[in-house]
Parts: sequence; structure tokens; C-alpha cells
Amino acid sequence: MTVARFWRENSPRYNLKASKCGNCGKVSFPPRTVCPECHRKSIGKMQEFQLSGKGEVYSFSIVHDAPAQFQNQKPYIVAMIKLDEGIMVTGQVIDCELDKVEIGMRVWASFRKLGEEGPGGVIHYGYKFHPEL
Ligand SMILES: [Zn+2]
Repeated sequence: MTVARFWRENSPRYNLKASKCGNCGKVSFPPRTVCPECHRKSIGKMQEFQLSGKGEVYSFSIVHDAPAQFQNQKPYIVAMIKLDEGIMVTGQVIDCELDKVEIGMRVWASFRKLGEEGPGGVIHYGYKFHPEL
């Protein structure tokens, strides 16, 4: 797949695009068209905001009982990540031993193909987190 196609098919949710209020500066993820703080005052002032994808593990759990499409990956780590911008996201942590994950560990996001629905079906992309080296 070409890079251009990859990005075109990526939704904002998957490339960590947030919105920033031009009135109060609040960052929202997923992006919003109206600021949850300023409401009408933010209309027309919302800006696209690219999250760094870097953050730290806030909490985590080891998943042993995976949905069918993830059976071959289990057990795996799912964590709540607090991004450096203060936004909380949930994602899988990969390239990390199960007993090495810990709260406060630095991680960064990358984009991976998560799965495909049926022959020629929809391809799902998402972000996953890696330990920061
Ligand atoms: Zn605002």
C-alpha cells in the first residue's frame, strides 16, 4: 500500500488528530467541532491539533480472554495512556514483555493494521503503543 493511500484511508481517530479551542486552548480527542468548555464562543475557532503520540502508561491490564479475531495475539497488554498533552487514550502495548509493563512507563504510538473484515472487506487501522527506547 502506498503512503498516500494509507493516510487517505486513515480517520482522525487513528492518526491522533485532536482539536484545539482557539478561545480557551482546551485540547479535545477525538476532535470536536465545538469546545466542551466554551460552547458557542468556540464556533469557528476550533483548530486541528496533532497529538505527539507520546505519553506514559497510566494503568494497564493483561488480556487473557481475547475476542476471536485477536485469539492469536493473546495474552496481550491493554493500557490507558496519558499522552503528554494530557489526553487519555486506550490502546494495546506491543513489543513489551508482559511482566515488563509498568505504570509511568514511557510509550509512543504507531499505526498498525488491526484486522480485516471478510474477503476484500474493511481494513481496520489503529494506534498501538511501544515502549520508548
Ligand atoms: Zn474552549
